[in-house]
Amino acid sequence: MTINVCRTVWARCRAILRGCSLSAGLLVLLFLTVFVFPVSAVPIVTVIDDDAANETAIATVKAVADRCGIKVTFAAVASFLERNPKVPELLRQYEAEGHEIASHSLSHRPGIWQTGGTIDIGAIEREMVESEAIFTRLDLHPKTFVYPYGNFPRGVRREIFDVIGRYYPVAFNARGDINLPGRMYPLYVSRHPLRKHNSMFMTKRLIDEAVSADEAWVVILTHSAKSDFSAEMLETIIRYAQEAGAVVLPASAAWERVRAWPMMDEDDIPDYSLFGDYLNAAFFHLPLLLGGGIAIIVLCGAALVLFLRHRAARRKKAAV
Ligand SMILES: [Zn+2]
Repeated sequence: MTINVCRTVWARCRAILRGCSLSAGLLVLLFLTVFVFPVSAVPIVTVIDDDAANETAIATVKAVADRCGIKVTFAAVASFLERNPKVPELLRQYEAEGHEIASHSLSHRPGIWQTGGTIDIGAIEREMVESEAIFTRLDLHPKTFVYPYGNFPRGVRREIFDVIGRYYPVAFNARGDINLPGRMYPLYVSRHPLRKHNSMFMTKRLIDEAVSADEAWVVILTHSAKSDFSAEMLETIIRYAQEAGAVVLPASAAWERVRAWPMMDEDDIPDYSLFGDYLNAAFFHLPLLLGGGIAIIVLCGAALVLFLRHRAARRKKAAV
C-alpha cells in the first residue's frame, strides 16, 4: 500500500517535472530567438534623412512617416542644431515618439570629411568629442553615425573606422545599394540615395531584390532640405516596400535585427569608383537610355532611307 502510494506520488512528480522541463525548454528557445540570436524573418528597409537642416524639411519627412505608420532616422549635424533651436526641439519630440536621431558629425565640413586620400584624424576625433557634447546638452540621443559624404578611399578608412567605432556600433556610407549577410561592414553600411532626378526604377529594383533574398537590408538616403527631394517619391517607395512585405525600421532598430549576420572583412569592402557611379547612373536611367537608343536608331535609319532615295532620284534624273 505504502509502496503504491509512493509510486503514484513519484509518477505525478515526474509528470510535473516533464511538463516543467518542456515549458522551460520552450521559454529558453523563445529567449534565444528574441534576445540572443535575433533573426530578420523579413527584409528590412530603413529611411535616413540627412542633415536636419531646417524645421520645414524634417517636418515633411515626419509627415510622410506618420502617413505610412513607420519610424525614420534623422541624421543631424550638431553645429547646425545650435544655430536653429526649433530643429532640436522638433527632434526631441520625434525621438519621444520613437523616431531615431543619428549623429552626422559636428561640422559636416568637406575639408575634414571629404578626405581625398589624406586624413586629419585629430580633426575627426575633435568632431566626435564636440558633437557628442552638443547632443548631450540638447538632450538628443543619437544611436548611429552617418558619414558626411562617405566614400572614403581605401587607405584612410581603417583610421576613420577606429575613431567612429569607439562611439557607435554602426555607421552609414553615402554610397552602395543593398546590404546582405556576409556582404556588409558594420561601420560602412551601404545606403542608396533616393533623388527626384532619378527614376524610382533602381530603388524599386533594390526592394524587389531584398524581398527575393529574404534576409536583406536596404537603407535609403534622402536630403529633405535639397531641391532633389520629393516627399511623394519617398511615400511611394515606402508604400512599395510595405506592400512587397518588407518591414520599415529606423536605423538602430534595424541594426538590432541584422547584427547577428556574418560580417564582411574590412579588406573586402569594395571601392565606389567614378566608373561605378557612371554605371549606376546608367542603370538609374536605363529606360531613358534604351528609349533614346531606339529613337537614335530609328532616326538614323529614316535619314539613310531618305538619302538613298534622294541619290537614286538624282541618278535617274542624270540618266534622262
Ligand atoms: Zn550630409
